[in-house]
Amino acid sequence: MHPRFLLLALFISLPVFAAPAHVHGEAKLEIVVDGNTLAIHLDSPLANLLGFEHAPRTPAEQQAVKAMAATLRQAGRLFVLDAAAGCAAADVQLASPVLDGKATADGHLDLEADFRWQCRHLPALRGIETRLFAAFPHLKRIGVDFAGPAGQQAGRLTPEVTRFAW
Ligand SMILES: [Zn+2]
Repeated sequence: MHPRFLLLALFISLPVFAAPAHVHGEAKLEIVVDGNTLAIHLDSPLANLLGFEHAPRTPAEQQAVKAMAATLRQAGRLFVLDAAAGCAAADVQLASPVLDGKATADGHLDLEADFRWQCRHLPALRGIETRLFAAFPHLKRIGVDFAGPAGQQAGRLTPEVTRFAW
C-alpha cells in the first residue's frame, strides 16, 4: 500500500471524525504531513467566521461573506510556517453554502477550507502557528488532529495557545 493512502486510511478511520459536532466558537483542523505536502483542512461553523449562518440578506452581509473568503484565501497569513521548511502555498479551496448560493433561510451552516503547501524540506517543520483567532474573533477553540510520518496526535488551540507542535 502506498504510504499516502495508508496515512489517509488511518486518518479517516479515527472515530473522532465520525460525529462532527457543530458548536459555535469551536472549529476543527486536520493537519496531514505526507511526502513534500502539508495539508490543512479547516471545518468551522459559519458563526465563527461570519457571525451569522444564513444566506447574506443585505449588502453588508454580502460584503462580510466576500471579506471572509478573501481572508481565508491568504493561507500565508493564517498559518505561519518555519522558513527552514521552504513551503510554498497552493490555491486554497473553500466550500460553504454561503459561497455557492445554496444557503437556506435558517439552520446551522459550516465552512470547509483546504490549505495546501509544497515544501522543499518538510522534516524541518515541527509545528505551525495559526492566526485564525486574530482573524476571526468569534473563534474560541480549535480541536486539532495531526497525522504525519511518525504517527498521529491530537491537540487543542485557543487564543492563548496558537502553536501546534509535532
Ligand atoms: Zn450554527
